[in-house]
Amino acid sequence: MVAPRGRHVGGTPKTGNGAVVACTDPATGRTHGFVQWTTEAEAHAAVERSRFAFAAWSSLTPRERSLILTAVADQMVGDAECLAELECLDTGKPIAEARVDVKRATAGMLYYATLAELDQVSDRSPTSELAVTVRHEPIGVVAAIIPWNVPLVLTVCKAGAALAAGNTVIVKPASQTSLSALRLAELASAAGLPPDVLNVLPGAGGEIGTALVTDDHVNAVTFTGSTNVGCNIALSCAPTLKRVTLELGGKSPNIIFEDADLTVAAPAAAAAAFYGQGEICTAGSRLLIERSIYDTVVREIVRWTNALRVGDTLDPLTEYGSLISEAHLVEVLGGVTRALDEGGRLICGGSRLTGSAFDAGCFFAPTIIESSGPDSFLDQEEIFGPVLSVSPFDTEDEAIDRANNSRYGLAAGVWTEDLVRARRIARRLECGVVWLNTYNNFDCS
Ligand code: NAP
Repeated sequence: MVAPRGRHVGGTPKTGNGAVVACTDPATGRTHGFVQWTTEAEAHAAVERSRFAFAAWSSLTPRERSLILTAVADQMVGDAECLAELECLDTGKPIAEARVDVKRATAGMLYYATLAELDQVSDRSPTSELAVTVRHEPIGVVAAIIPWNVPLVLTVCKAGAALAAGNTVIVKPASQTSLSALRLAELASAAGLPPDVLNVLPGAGGEIGTALVTDDHVNAVTFTGSTNVGCNIALSCAPTLKRVTLELGGKSPNIIFEDADLTVAAPAAAAAAFYGQGEICTAGSRLLIERSIYDTVVREIVRWTNALRVGDTLDPLTEYGSLISEAHLVEVLGGVTRALDEGGRLICGGSRLTGSAFDAGCFFAPTIIESSGPDSFLDQEEIFGPVLSVSPFDTEDEAIDRANNSRYGLAAGVWTEDLVRARRIARRLECGVVWLNTYNNFDCS
């Protein structure tokens, strides 16, 4: 069991006045630690301390900041197994997946250490009489609000980038998953990051998240999470004109053409939907398959899901774990019920997993539903769980129209051996990332 931890403010774990909350492993229902939540007054006090620390941190040279962040990455390498275990126990994901997350997070920290050294000043001469200097300045105090699905990776993405640029950072982890961020703050202190440059404040989003986004002395907010909360944060930041970065939900299309290498595309499409228990913002949750290969691909994906090793998340061979909580499982089940009520055809899964290995946890079967149409709930709303919509298509234009028929625009995949077509489609897809003949393949280095 992890020892009780308080907030991490000023470079050392502190105890405060907030409630002490148990950390529960959603795969077993067991308590593996305790976290003391932050009070609103403590959150505002942390902002003040962070503001004070900004002057010294931002005036270090880029090289000095880079060296400290490199030392943080070194600490993460030495602590990799502990970080992975905390992530596994907090989220219910398999330890193998948590180890991949730790590697990605460490690569990310090293990447930002490198970026810290990039030139922050550039000179331009638009005319022979005029010299223009562009200087990139740190903003000040950055609040980073993190979801529960990949806590360490997203904490590093946000904190690493902001610290490299010379900002001080306050992290508000999701209420279920504070431990890896708290551990990261401890490692950062050990690596020589000065006090109050990185503070971690566990607590409830409605209280601590709101306190941070409305605090006059927070200069920027970087948020990853649900679209609804993101909208509210944008509104809350408006009166103080804070800079806001929002990374929100997705309902990403994954398109397989008949000329694709199906030995790769079919298992990859299954992994795109079910890796991370489907709790991945970029999950390929809408699979569009050219009609001539539709039955073959669906059969192959069902076979792949049936072969998944599900269960004990601390077993290194386990490939598929638990959802984050009972409440989320109920939401996922509600999404499945609604999809079926609207005429979707259940192909496999559709319910929680039962039996002695699963009863204490929040295990939900990988679920495949043939969509009842492009405007259905299943194809339009993010379920954020292991629920894959499958549909056949006949033409390239139909596939693109259907892929673009979404209010989201996070990611997409295209599988074809015709690279000219792949690039043509990538240009027409209205989303931030398009993977060609691969999926969820992130480069953190
Ligand atoms: P969420 O409910 O929006 O929560 C995200 C974070 O915001 C948590 O730390 C939460 O705290 C906090 N929060 C809640 N209400 C708040 C408020 N009023 N003011 C400030 N902060 C508040 O999202 P989630 O359920 O954790 O994560 C799932 C969502 O994240 C999905 O929609 C997924 O697609 C999205 N996501 C997107 C990306 C991306 O890169 N685009 C990556 C990962 C996940 P509490 O935990 O205490 O409520």
